[in-house]
Amino acid sequence: MVTVHGFTTGWITTDRAGLIEGGEGQQRIPVLSYLIEHAKGRLVFDTGLHQDLRSDARARLGGLADIFDSVLPTGLAVDERVGGLSDGVDLIVCSHLHYDHCGGNAHLGDVPVLVQRDEWDAAHGGDPLAGYLDADFETGQDVKLLDGEHDVFGDGSVVCIPTPGHTAGHQSLRVRTDERELLLTGDACYFGETFDTGLMPVFANDLERQSQSLELLRTMAAGGSHLIFGHDADQFPDDEVVAL
Ligand SMILES: [Zn+2]
Repeated sequence: MVTVHGFTTGWITTDRAGLIEGGEGQQRIPVLSYLIEHAKGRLVFDTGLHQDLRSDARARLGGLADIFDSVLPTGLAVDERVGGLSDGVDLIVCSHLHYDHCGGNAHLGDVPVLVQRDEWDAAHGGDPLAGYLDADFETGQDVKLLDGEHDVFGDGSVVCIPTPGHTAGHQSLRVRTDERELLLTGDACYFGETFDTGLMPVFANDLERQSQSLELLRTMAAGGSHLIFGHDADQFPDDEVVAL
């Protein structure tokens, strides 16, 4: 049996123009992480923000702090969240290595991290304003580099699905529970509005691949997958843990 819990691991307020084509004003979006429990192990998909943000966001984020007002309330850091649900974790899977998706890796102990090789390569030595902070992923944890689709537990229940475009090596996670198939899209699709309108974020590593990945998500949704988006405040309006 596979269970999935989703929860906020912080909040970001930023210009809507950066989130969706034609967006105006500001938007507050949840930062999301998921705990997936499988007979063979407990996995966290995306780990949210690093706790150092609490004392000095600018020291942690540098210039990104000017673009993204990032807050991590007490109790919402990924280790605090996981601590309330489970007795530790065995594995981390990162959709990509932006600071709001892997900042909490360091808080989860000495466990392996699964990430696509293209993402790992892109995250090193890039523009600091591209969203990558070395401190988030240079943690000393074992890193397992993936080259494409990857069946985490070998039974098809938890599978990494490449969805590049937002970043060079972005991946989503398909999870089959007893009840249904979930697709945790990560930033391949920020929210339902993106999915419904096709209006994409204007900043991407590769706009064409981003659109192709959205088409893949649409195909999977049409085939019965239930999509959980990367930063959707309708799906996660508050800090309640959601059993998916
Ligand atoms: Zn991102």
